[in-house]
Amino acid sequence: MKTVKEETQSLIKKDRDHVWHHISQYNDKSNPIIATEAKGAWITDHNGNKYLDGMSGLWCVNVGYGRNELAQAAYEQMNQMAYIPMTQSHIPAIKLAEKVNEWLSDDYMIFYSNSGSDANEVAFKMARQFHQQNGDFSRYKFISRYRAYHGSSLGALSATGQALRKYKYEPLSSGFLHVAPPDNYRRPLGQSVESYNVQRAEELEDKIIWEQKETIAGIIMEPLITGGGVLIPHPIYVEKVQEICKRHGVLLIIDEVICGFGRTGKMFGHMHFDINPDIITMAKGLTSAYLPLSITAVRKDIYETFKQNEDNSHFRHVNTFGGNPAACAVALKNLEIIEKENLTERAAVLGERLQNELEELKNHPYVGDIRNLGLLMGIELVEDKDTKKPASAQRVGKIISDCKAYGLIIGKNGDTVAGYNNILTICPPLSSTDNDLDFII
Ligand code: PLP
Repeated sequence: MKTVKEETQSLIKKDRDHVWHHISQYNDKSNPIIATEAKGAWITDHNGNKYLDGMSGLWCVNVGYGRNELAQAAYEQMNQMAYIPMTQSHIPAIKLAEKVNEWLSDDYMIFYSNSGSDANEVAFKMARQFHQQNGDFSRYKFISRYRAYHGSSLGALSATGQALRKYKYEPLSSGFLHVAPPDNYRRPLGQSVESYNVQRAEELEDKIIWEQKETIAGIIMEPLITGGGVLIPHPIYVEKVQEICKRHGVLLIIDEVICGFGRTGKMFGHMHFDINPDIITMAKGLTSAYLPLSITAVRKDIYETFKQNEDNSHFRHVNTFGGNPAACAVALKNLEIIEKENLTERAAVLGERLQNELEELKNHPYVGDIRNLGLLMGIELVEDKDTKKPASAQRVGKIISDCKAYGLIIGKNGDTVAGYNNILTICPPLSSTDNDLDFII
């Protein structure tokens, strides 16, 4: 009989032989965690090693691992009715749409897909068709921000503002333009955060005008840039962007794929600002990643333009798995847990504690900035605090691997091309215990 160690080695060999990992190439020096079990905020690997998942998977397991109620909800729904396409309807889809609407400030129609990328693709198609339906045939372009990530499919990748993720797959979809986001830590010396954020919003307006405003269909942005390095705007920026959109007839698409469902200490990230998005995309925390599901929520008045009763006025888009009954049932149960356990408030409380307790890290020679909103934190590492030169990949990589050796998984984000792949990210489950937080700290 094989020892656990031999069995692990054999699994790793098979993994190397057959499994093509996402975004990373494992080699002889670094092995993937072969996870076998997960409970709360903790993952156990095949050897019995435990890791606190300080990234909630890929910023998604909001209610934590091992929730029996979610497994039960999927089981019951699969037994009762495993599938019906969303050309028809079913009760979990109806209840979920109603529930999500309870939290939004306006009336939205809910369109189901499978992933964050899908939800954004749907948003782009809806925005273009909306303008066409209104006779605005020239509006096809989208503006997003450098450093933002909006997904891996060709349209969502086109909206993404990180060149290294894109250049080998070009040409991507045409009509996607980028502007710089506010990066308050790196604003010009002597300029106030407020005036800098106003300036960045004005640059966005300039882009619209230079590009001929009648060609712009929409702007897509996250409430704060997450994967691009946790860049939190001043509210004036977001509110001005909405004002600019309205002035030029451009739709505002808010990507809540990471920020949604309590992560930032409010149910949705955009609720930190006084805005009312035209389209909102959601995924990840919607089911806490127990099953794949995403939503494109579209304001009712936009939806109305798709009901012109001509053969061709409906939204000509279908996907097989979107709105899967078990995924909707799991989402409903997941949202019930978020509400029942006050996890949104808990994210705010834990986030504040994390911020307070890590404050003294700011004195460390390599820590340039620490920023967070709710339970979503970025620690920007620099080589030199005066020049703000981003920390080297080796330094950042060593911290990540040292944390892993101590049993803590954290992330590394930013934008490699711009040299800003120097931000450590911490995004544990909202259900993390006080002891879990102690461990991270
Ligand atoms: N939008 C944002 C902000 C994301 O962070 C991600 C994924 O990390 C996506 C969209 C794409 O989501 P998915 O990986 O489910 O396609």
